[in-house]
Amino acid sequence: MPIEVQRAAALKPKPAATDVLGFGKYFTDHMFRMDYAPERGWHQARIVPYGPLGLDPGAAALHYAQSVFDGAKVFRGRDGKLRAFRLTDHCARLAASAERLSMAVVPPELARASIEALVKEEAAWVPSAPGTSLYVRPVVIASEAFLGVRPADKYIFFAILSPVGNYFSNGAEPVRIWVEQRHTRAAPGGLGGAKAAANYAASLQASVEAKKRGYAQVLWLDALEHRYIEEVGTMNLFVRIGDEIVTPPLDGTFLPGITRESALTLLRDWGMKVSERKLSIDELREAHREGALHEVFGTGTAAVISPVGGLGFEEGELKIGQGRVGEVSQRLYDALTGIQYGTQPDRHGWMTVI
Ligand code: PMP
Repeated sequence: MPIEVQRAAALKPKPAATDVLGFGKYFTDHMFRMDYAPERGWHQARIVPYGPLGLDPGAAALHYAQSVFDGAKVFRGRDGKLRAFRLTDHCARLAASAERLSMAVVPPELARASIEALVKEEAAWVPSAPGTSLYVRPVVIASEAFLGVRPADKYIFFAILSPVGNYFSNGAEPVRIWVEQRHTRAAPGGLGGAKAAANYAASLQASVEAKKRGYAQVLWLDALEHRYIEEVGTMNLFVRIGDEIVTPPLDGTFLPGITRESALTLLRDWGMKVSERKLSIDELREAHREGALHEVFGTGTAAVISPVGGLGFEEGELKIGQGRVGEVSQRLYDALTGIQYGTQPDRHGWMTVI
């Protein structure tokens, strides 16, 4: 599909290399947009100046939460080349999320080509300082103005870009995570496996409470028994108990993380003992008591690998790893970022040069 380009009359100042980029604070000069109508399909692909979408107040996204998104990253390699990490997989997940919410699906190849065109246009925004990247946020929302409850028939796909640094304000320091035993995020049969905006709305109250207690994110447990570990706010969770690395199996109640899948692949490549199995908080506590809980870490696009230094419960905190980054967390972080910045071979074909 041809993409029309309408350039901004004036460009924004870019954050200085020494600025703390943080996460999602800055947006680039342009965005990608295309529209969907039943008789035309996806049409009018365009790169336009970053700005308001002009949404009708009756738009279904605003009323019934037909809104899905994804999040990927583009890295500036040491060689200056721009590389996207598993972009087609992110676009495939966006399509699966849209499908789950009965929305118009953007074919993954079309989404990928659109994002690549936008990134090419905004190449100067991809930062080069260590640990920085360009975060890509593709979104699909229902734009039809209609108040009956049914799937909308008009949609907007847009993608915006944000130069980012570390996701957690304390950088690579281990984070403290609150184990949420009251609120739940997603029930079996629900939306948990989709990257639906509604899931994040459902998570906010608990995360505000966790922050008040001094915790960075919430660890969600299953909605039925409040016993089994599911995922962290914006990450999947791994633990190392003895010589076994465990992460919960995909059951549709939490996001099938692309970093999770990449970490599993690398751990298996390295011949480590890896299990995708149910993991209860009782087992975690038990392992901790026995001194066998060596490492806990989160995996996600934003933080890549995030070591967890403490798990908070009403009854007190389990301290993990004595404030240090665990050896598996460090090895995974080095391997993934090495592939992403092009300093290590990309054996699995995860990177595409843009
Ligand atoms: N779970 C949730 C709820 C998330 O928002 C994310 C971030 N996308 C993840 C897990 C990790 O997924 P990924 O590795 O694909 O970024």
